[in-house]
Amino acid sequence: LQTKKDQLLAVHESATAFYHQVLMNTVTGEEALKYLKERGFTTELLEEFQIGFSPSDKTATQQIMKQRNYSEQLMRESGIFSDRTDSDELLDRFASRIIFPLRNEKGQTIAFSGRTLPKKALESSDFHEAKYLNSPETVLFSKRNYLFNLDKARVQMRKTSEVVLFEGYMDVISAWNAGVKNGVASMGTALTEEQIRILNKMVDSVVITFDGDRAGLEATKKAVDLLNDSRHFEVSVFPMLGGMDPDDYIQQKGAPAFLEGLSNQRESSFQFQSRYLKANLDLDSETNRLVYLEKVLRMLVEVDSIIERELYLNELSEEFELDPAVLKNQLLIYQQEFM
Ligand code: ATP
Ligand code: MN
Ligand code: MN
Ligand code: MN
Repeated sequence: LQTKKDQLLAVHESATAFYHQVLMNTVTGEEALKYLKERGFTTELLEEFQIGFSPSDKTATQQIMKQRNYSEQLMRESGIFSDRTDSDELLDRFASRIIFPLRNEKGQTIAFSGRTLPKKALESSDFHEAKYLNSPETVLFSKRNYLFNLDKARVQMRKTSEVVLFEGYMDVISAWNAGVKNGVASMGTALTEEQIRILNKMVDSVVITFDGDRAGLEATKKAVDLLNDSRHFEVSVFPMLGGMDPDDYIQQKGAPAFLEGLSNQRESSFQFQSRYLKANLDLDSETNRLVYLEKVLRMLVEVDSIIERELYLNELSEEFELDPAVLKNQLLIYQQEFM
């Protein structure tokens, strides 16, 4: 006898195959397929991630599931169908969306995320649809415990003891295609303690490369702090600038540039924190320069490597035209306070 979990996994497997088939082989999927191809998705990549499309007919998925003898109760528990109470019908919540199967670390689909197609100007209405829609929390799926692409990334994560953390799964997939095989993403939420625990079992090093917009910068700051607080990882950041996200970067500058940047243009945690501070302080003001120097020197106390400390100290001394000996004295005082 199958457990409830097994049954729900079977429903998800069925739905994955259905959506994928619709995208790859039907007229219904044509527009979505064209859009994905324009974004650089090859057939091979669409196969690899089992990407799909859910028909605009909200009842189509339910009909397929009935043919396969899944009970109504099971379908309700799957989270695939809208839980609007004013209708008894099982309506696909992902209708008219591109489907990204969300797989667990074993490679089993446990939830979906659906992305809208870009609206043609004529069709645009006042009603705003969220760009992405995820399955709700179910027996199978809990967002705070979930990392996208862990099933594929785990091999390379173990091998290199490093993970590359992205903001969106478009970025993960694009980077995977560019050769980054150890990339994962949280579900657009801030990194959770649970996700950090999962990473902690597999890697020593985390490279964060979130979107280069304000939200991405703030999310990076939070992730860097959380990861540092756990004291288990070496943390670095590959910064995206000018509002680009990693997918944009790869499309615009190419895969080799991204790979090169990922290995050679990393900021240490300290360098990121300094840049973050600067982004929030106008250094034309002397008061702010003093605030900045104090904060940066206090952060420098926590840099373990003597060589790194020396290097950053010299950079600061040049930038602010201060005698390195003065900075060193101040650093010593903060060090004593710290201990
Ligand atoms: P695309 O390139 O297709 O626009 P993206 O990955 O750049 O996708 P972002 O807007 O940067 O999309 O969002 C990053 C991540 O945040 C997404 O992968 C998704 O997990 C999450 N997200 C974004 N918008 C929403 C939303 N409206 N509801 C739920 N999650 C969302
Ligand atoms: Mn974003
Ligand atoms: Mn993005
Ligand atoms: Mn994007």
